[in-house]
Amino acid sequence: MGTITFLGTGTSTGVPMVGCGCDVCHSSDPRDRRLRSSIWIESADASLLVDTTTDLRAQALRANILRVDAVLYTHHHADHVHGVDELRAFNYFQGGSIPCYGNQKTLERIRELHGYIFDGRKAEGAAKPRLELCLIDGPLDLGATRITPIPVKHGTVDAFGYRIANTAYITDCSFIPEESYKLLEGLETLALGALWLERHATHFTMEKALAAVERIRPGKTYLTHLNHARSHRDGSAALPENVHLAWDGLVVEF
Ligand SMILES: [Zn+2]
Ligand SMILES: [Zn+2]
Ligand SMILES: [Zn+2]
Repeated sequence: MGTITFLGTGTSTGVPMVGCGCDVCHSSDPRDRRLRSSIWIESADASLLVDTTTDLRAQALRANILRVDAVLYTHHHADHVHGVDELRAFNYFQGGSIPCYGNQKTLERIRELHGYIFDGRKAEGAAKPRLELCLIDGPLDLGATRITPIPVKHGTVDAFGYRIANTAYITDCSFIPEESYKLLEGLETLALGALWLERHATHFTMEKALAAVERIRPGKTYLTHLNHARSHRDGSAALPENVHLAWDGLVVEF
């Protein structure tokens, strides 16, 4: 059916974190270098981004992304949106505008935060991306690929995870509502955000993420949106069977 490439697997600061002197931020293991969290979904007839991170340019060059048919936004936070200007390059080569999907609040906040793109004014001496904000509140077919939004809570923010066939991607999340667990039945692969922290108001800690995995029971889980508290090697050693840490560049099939 297609592939999902992890373009980034780091928390909002990325790993290494600017200015940090810790061992993980100075690790020589390439899996400890995590750009901001995002995936690229590629099927026979669609090339889709989930989020446009602050690192989008580097990610697109590294993964050799040649076109973007649509963007699926999880929520409006800076680490997931602020690379939006990089979509200009795709406009340039493929023509037309790029549909950007999200829930109502996400679209409103993206419009507010990036007024220069959406205010209808002619850009003064500078180009701006051509984008179309599109509301998604249920399953959507992009090419032959069915995309199902999975509503989750990220603190008080209503965010989306996305299900693509037998695979689901849920990045920033602190609570999965009951109805959303029903949308996560029969998964072969789950990508789920988690932080190595004792507690956090807006993200799953490792403990809470593993409890959710225990309930969802996917064939395989990759944890993402990771912070610098553990190295890939040490963090991986502490995980149950069939649960792994994602890394930048990981490709899974769906
Ligand atoms: Zn985030
Ligand atoms: Zn560090
Ligand atoms: Zn967030």
